[in-house]
Amino acid sequence: MAKIYEICVVCERKIPLETRKFKNTCSDHCSDIKQKQIDQRAYAAKMSRDPLYATKQSRKQYASIKADPEKWIEFKKVRDERVQMPSYRESLRKSWKKYKAKNKEKIAEHTRNHRAMLGVEWTESRLRSEAKRIEKRKKKRQWLKDNDPDGYKQLLKEEREYQRQWRKNKRLQKAQEQMAQVMQGDSNEEK
Ligand SMILES: [Zn+2]
Repeated sequence: MAKIYEICVVCERKIPLETRKFKNTCSDHCSDIKQKQIDQRAYAAKMSRDPLYATKQSRKQYASIKADPEKWIEFKKVRDERVQMPSYRESLRKSWKKYKAKNKEKIAEHTRNHRAMLGVEWTESRLRSEAKRIEKRKKKRQWLKDNDPDGYKQLLKEEREYQRQWRKNKRLQKAQEQMAQVMQGDSNEEK
């Protein structure tokens, strides 16, 4: 025979037995909370057994959407609309920056673990995404050159600025190295 509960496991109030016999919550509201807690615990347990669980799940979900043409079109539409919104991009950028600053060590540790776990695959995936980035940049550059003279001019300006900054850093680095050598020499002479 099923157990009859008298006290709600969520809020500890009395369970109305006339309407909720055999239930361990007092209301639909508490029942929802209980279910949420069960799901959260199950999720936490899965994550502790397999740190890649969340990644695998979202990959699975993504694959199933991609496999269904209708779902895929809808998914892309929603995603593209969202990404176009400047406010969304700005808030993404901001919250990521904040998160990064706050969790610097945690992220570094996660990266180290992830890297160790994936081994060679890590290097390969980094190379792949780097190649993708370069290809994308090349395409964008060509597109601007063909279609948007002002945008292309702006890009050239940014590239020049980037190179200027790079050369400046390089010079600074060299000067610091020379300085360090001179100081090393001085301290050797003193001995
Ligand atoms: Zn309750």
